Amino acid sequence: MKKFYITTPIYYINAEPSIGSACTTVAADVVARLHRQLGEEVFYLTGTDEHGEKVAETAQKAGLSPIDFCNQIAPKFEEAWKLLNISHDFFIRTTDPRHEKVVGEVLQKIYDASDVYKGKYDGWYCTGCEAFKTEKELVDLHCPLHPPEKTVQKSEENWFFRLSKYAPKLIELTEDDKTNYIFPESKRTEVLAKLKAGVNDISISREKVKWGIPVPWDTDHTIYVWIDALINYYSATQFLENKTDFWPASVHLLGKEILWFHTVIWQAMLLSANLPIPVKTYTHDFYTIDNQKMSKSLGNTIPPQEIVDLFGTDGARYLIARSFPNNGDADVGIIRFKEKYNADLANNLGNLVSRVAKLGEKLQTPNIKPQIDQKYLELIDQLKLDEAINLIFTKYIDKSNNRLNEVAPWKLEPTDPKRIEVLQECANNLRLAAFHLYPIMPQKCEEIENIFNEKIKPIEKGLFGRIG
Ligand SMILES: [Zn+2]
Repeated sequence: MKKFYITTPIYYINAEPSIGSACTTVAADVVARLHRQLGEEVFYLTGTDEHGEKVAETAQKAGLSPIDFCNQIAPKFEEAWKLLNISHDFFIRTTDPRHEKVVGEVLQKIYDASDVYKGKYDGWYCTGCEAFKTEKELVDLHCPLHPPEKTVQKSEENWFFRLSKYAPKLIELTEDDKTNYIFPESKRTEVLAKLKAGVNDISISREKVKWGIPVPWDTDHTIYVWIDALINYYSATQFLENKTDFWPASVHLLGKEILWFHTVIWQAMLLSANLPIPVKTYTHDFYTIDNQKMSKSLGNTIPPQEIVDLFGTDGARYLIARSFPNNGDADVGIIRFKEKYNADLANNLGNLVSRVAKLGEKLQTPNIKPQIDQKYLELIDQLKLDEAINLIFTKYIDKSNNRLNEVAPWKLEPTDPKRIEVLQECANNLRLAAFHLYPIMPQKCEEIENIFNEKIKPIEKGLFGRIG
């Protein structure tokens, strides 16, 4: 059986689930479900990133030990994904001792390859990103992603990884279409330019941070939280018994703020440890909320709970997938969501289902096994979720609406062959639409399939109620 392994980034436990993490998680879920539909053996991994300075600080402020703090927040992510009906196969936490063990093993391989050395680090650090920053990346010494927080100057002895050694290999891999793993194209161009501009070695340990995994050969140091976190994608396939043959990942899905970590640092670590690199990384852009950057200080993030409360699980999944930022930032907001929900789901799809079910009650429907549209499959794999949804709406839903308006079966006698024919055709189109949209709205699509399976069954209540 063909294997398919997809991951989301593991979310930093310092923040609670938001529409930003929901965006990546829902998109990965759509891809995972589609590949299961294709009969592939799928492994979908998500989880939380729990080490580092900032977690220790936040825990202390809350009067908790770091692990107690993590134990309190991690379930919030699991609950949010349950609300959104996410079908991940495993939820990894970087404080899992089984993960910690694999991290030590991978680091040891990198050490044995003579790719680490002790050096002195002098520079700026943003605890928000848990990352070192060059002055070029800062605005008045503030991190643009974390404007209220000041970056701090650090000077300490660290272990360094010879990232620069791998730059030529990464350039070679990404320049060749056959081995390139950076998608979409705009992100490949961006990374290639940065690689060619020159790459510095990076610090991979911390001397003063205690909340982390010890460096195997120097236990006074802990492993830099990002290095520990990236290894989760691999570690899960090592410590989960039935997942051992899933590495390398088919797709790492991620947001653009972590592009460099995933397309350069992670790949170089794997090359150094002599492990296969992922087939593909897919990087998406951000949501803006009502044309404003999403930020904690503006308080304008939308918790997944709020979207699910308003639109239901499948409504929320649809809206998130529909606005997935695959080509530049995408603007979302509750008002926009309401408009989209009413237009696409209540007035269009939902209304069509009700009309056909009512007019065609008890009619036989053709029970042909649906075949997946290859163009649709391609669009989903390229994370062009909006285009994929449009394709299905045009092909099955709009077409059915047009046919109904053309033939006007409500004006014909129930026994009129023209009336029967058009209703059967629409019922079949709705089955096909449900088959294709299933990865996006699993529950609603199952309901549609049940209504039009074999015989058209009556429905009591519309599938998607209008929202005022
Ligand atoms: Zn930052």
